[in-house]
Amino acid sequence: MNTKFKEIVKLFQKLPGVGPRQAARFVIALMNKPEEELQEFGNAVANLHKEISFCPVCFNISNNGLCAVCLDKKRDQTKLLVVEKITDLDSIERTGLYKGLYHVLGGAINPLDGLNPEMLRLEELGKRMDNLAGKNVELIIATNPNTAGETTSHYLRDLFKNKKGVYITRLARGLSSGSHLEYADEITLKHALDYRK
Ligand SMILES: [Zn+2]
Repeated sequence: MNTKFKEIVKLFQKLPGVGPRQAARFVIALMNKPEEELQEFGNAVANLHKEISFCPVCFNISNNGLCAVCLDKKRDQTKLLVVEKITDLDSIERTGLYKGLYHVLGGAINPLDGLNPEMLRLEELGKRMDNLAGKNVELIIATNPNTAGETTSHYLRDLFKNKKGVYITRLARGLSSGSHLEYADEITLKHALDYRK
């Protein structure tokens, strides 16, 4: 097979969940696109770091600096919903029902996969909780209802259970065990939010 083709296929394989066959399909699809569209695609990728970054407070996506949620002072500053990934945050935002703040952990505790607590943004979360101390904050744990998500949930509860003025709830009801937040439909998410305990 063409070496250049193989090289580009390898690049696509660097993306999560993309195997050699799907990578090849992506490259072939791009070969059928006009030059202009490919330039646009290439520029967007090349400028990614310049134009988009992670919010330094909650680790949502932002246009360099604070994200739209953190910038919005109308949002409830006494609610902090903790998710594993940005895609989970997106799912909850799409429901339009949650008006508090977020914290993206960057994964869930899963020692078998080498994901230890130190690799999550827990220190940053701790600092945020310290800053909010005394304000009667609700910490809503919205990790996935699977083993890693539950482990993370217990860990978070242990971490903050003795913190003054912190009320911990868990988003779970309505979500089936082993499922993923990012694939849950809006009605299920609404239910899970409404009945958190
Ligand atoms: Zn933010």
